[in-house]
Amino acid sequence: MKVLKFGGTSVGTVEGINQVISILSENIEKGERIAAVYSAMSGVTNRLIQIAQLTVLNDLSYQEHLKSVEERHFIVVRGLIDVKGQSAVIANVKGLFNELEDLLRGIALIKELSPRTMDLVLSFGERLSTTIITETLKHRGISAEFLDARTVIKTDDHFGYAAVNFTLTNENIQKYFKNQTALVCITGFIGSTIDGVTTTLGRGGSDYSGSIFGAALQADVIEIWTDVDGMLTADPRKVKSAFTIPTITYAEAMELSHFGAKVIYPPSLTPAFLKQIPIKILNTFNPIHPGTTIHKTAERTQYSITGVSSIDDIALVNVAGSGMLGVAGVSAKLFSILAKNKISVILISQASSEHSICFAIDPKSAEKVREILDEAFKVELENGDVESVSIERNLSIIAIVGEGMKASTGTSGKVFTVLGRNGINVIATAQGSSELNISVVINKKNIAKALNALHGSFFENNGQVLNLYLVGGGLIGSTLLQQIYQQRAYLSERKNTTLRLIGIANSKRMLINEDGIDITNWRNLLAENGEISNIGSFVSEIQNLNLPNSVFLDCTANKDIVHHYYSLLNSSVSIVTPNKVANSSSYEQYFTLQRAAQNKGVKFLYETNVGAGLPIINTLQALIASGDQIVKIEAVLSGTLSFLFNNFKVGEKFVDVLKEAKEKGFTEPDPRDDLSGMDVARKILILSREVGMKLEPEDVVIKNLLNDECLNAPSVETFFEALEADNARFEKLLLEAEAKDEVLRYIASLENDKISIELKTVGRNHSFFNLSGSENIVAFTTERYKTYPLVIKGPGAGAEVTASGVFADIMNISSFLG
Ligand code: ADP
Ligand code: ASP
Ligand code: MG
Repeated sequence: MKVLKFGGTSVGTVEGINQVISILSENIEKGERIAAVYSAMSGVTNRLIQIAQLTVLNDLSYQEHLKSVEERHFIVVRGLIDVKGQSAVIANVKGLFNELEDLLRGIALIKELSPRTMDLVLSFGERLSTTIITETLKHRGISAEFLDARTVIKTDDHFGYAAVNFTLTNENIQKYFKNQTALVCITGFIGSTIDGVTTTLGRGGSDYSGSIFGAALQADVIEIWTDVDGMLTADPRKVKSAFTIPTITYAEAMELSHFGAKVIYPPSLTPAFLKQIPIKILNTFNPIHPGTTIHKTAERTQYSITGVSSIDDIALVNVAGSGMLGVAGVSAKLFSILAKNKISVILISQASSEHSICFAIDPKSAEKVREILDEAFKVELENGDVESVSIERNLSIIAIVGEGMKASTGTSGKVFTVLGRNGINVIATAQGSSELNISVVINKKNIAKALNALHGSFFENNGQVLNLYLVGGGLIGSTLLQQIYQQRAYLSERKNTTLRLIGIANSKRMLINEDGIDITNWRNLLAENGEISNIGSFVSEIQNLNLPNSVFLDCTANKDIVHHYYSLLNSSVSIVTPNKVANSSSYEQYFTLQRAAQNKGVKFLYETNVGAGLPIINTLQALIASGDQIVKIEAVLSGTLSFLFNNFKVGEKFVDVLKEAKEKGFTEPDPRDDLSGMDVARKILILSREVGMKLEPEDVVIKNLLNDECLNAPSVETFFEALEADNARFEKLLLEAEAKDEVLRYIASLENDKISIELKTVGRNHSFFNLSGSENIVAFTTERYKTYPLVIKGPGAGAEVTASGVFADIMNISSFLG
């Protein structure tokens, strides 16, 4: 014997009911003995509640709503049964609607809608759907019989949430089925009291009906047919990558459903569990999928947990006071009062100091709970034993569930780490002693982010996903995207990492797509689908999306974008940037950003601020972190100036070397911007801050390369003329150097808390002697590298190397999150 239960979406349309009938027929053909339980058509229970509420307010629009519900049922009948056969069924359905209309009229007259009357109104949903299906089955030649569950399921009179009297119910069901040969079609969700008053079993209660019948009939299996492929590792509406759990224990399924996995109504598990009957969750619209089997044991999987679920809207009540310390019975009193008032407590968390107890409830009962507790603890509140009863709203609970937790260590550590790194504050937590469930209370706005981050970390072994937002589609940005595309296979196979581009903005347009932007086609997508660029709204959108593992890439040199860094870091978005502006302005700004990143547990990485892709900042940080003392830093940090002095030879004019550099694209449009040393100043200032010095831009002493005529020349052309006129000075410097067998180098140094930048000469023994092209070089003299400094040398400019430095920083974040 099998009991099949079909949910609202399964019976909500003609297509759905046809699927249901084909599933039933297949069972009958196989010779299975079956019975079937049906929900109301999807959405109908909600509509009936709404109609009843309008009616009691004397809002006559209820009649239109009722008409549309009626029409929906008629449409389904017409779609299922040919014209000849329709009229009898339509008459039957019409009869039910007339009855409902009379009832509503009564409600309108007496202006009262008790839970008892509401249950009667709601019963029509299941009675209608089940009538239509039974009649359709008969019409198609299947011997079927309608069973109004109210005649067999007996309950108490707790309307809306009635408790089943199993002794009577089981007896009634067994009696009814004794000599039954037809396919019995049963209304889900409803029952009645001993006196025959209609009751309901709680929202989602048709699953429970299925289980009640299955247990009473000692079925071999109870099948819950719904619209998803079984019970999934997370709610598929919130976590797109959720997947089917093939087998799960009753206890795990209970925890997941108690904490919001709507796919099965929690009480349904009990009757099946008591008789050890397996429950299968199957998809009406994909019947060949094996779905989920709930039973006493489950297969072990490679995952340490079984699933995550959430209740999106809860309120947290906190009862605090020193009088609670060690006083036996305060919590007993508290919970017995709540039970007496039928307040269901979702989670309890008590600090071991016993100074406070907090518990989660449905926010709808929050005000009632406050009144009850204020009243019950009146004396304790007055004498100060209980200091306060506070209620916090707009919270959610996430539950991480699995029997596997017992066998593996570190699950809760991982949960808190993942949440922490995504900037999600845990407000309360509870772990059952059965080690089956860790529940955390968080702010409601973080729910999707938390679920996705946890799911990613526990289930998506195929890797870590980083969500990237790129500002700047210029040379560095586009090279970076190209590199990411080229490396995608390596990243996923060897690094378990996927880099998804979620947003991109240049100065004209911006585009955000939560599902990811195709990196190979970003230019077209940005041009076709992008909106007018606005960095403020781009940033707000990133914050609203609130995706886990978000990384903001600023590949511009723009100072306006920097204004948003702080707010991004504060929203737990990491930042990677070659843009030097943030770190080379005031020390205050540098420090604030560092601290924000630290506080939020995210990364702010800018290796490419100095020497493009050369590992200068990382090396410096590693030296300091490992306890070394920095004595001196010397560096050639400008590719342009490096080129000039590497190529300036006796007999040539300095201005000609400069012109050549300009032609090759090595200089700024106005080469004085390079020759001013400002760019070098920014870089060495950043290094000084890494070392721990609190220097400001004005503390950098730059010895000027150019005379006043050059500096004041009104155009680049006139500047070149002025420089040519000053050639003798440069030639003299060069000749003096050569006389000592030395070369000219434009060097930034940091020593004794002072930064200086000037043109110097260095001899053959100096590590800066051999530089070619536009190479950069940095020498760190430290306590450990005293005699010979630690030297880093290589190309210090260019889109390829800068983009690869940014890429390396992104990968750094990935391993940090890993
Ligand atoms: P029915 O009408 O068949 O009773 P429900 O809407 O009550 O269906 O429950 C099925 C829905 O439960 C799915 O469509 C899905 O959106 C939701 N759901 C929430 N959590 C889970 C989960 N962990 N696994 C599967 N479905 C879930
Ligand atoms: N129709 C009822 C509800 O919507 C019962 C069910 O669908 O399980 O709650
Ligand atoms: Mg349901």
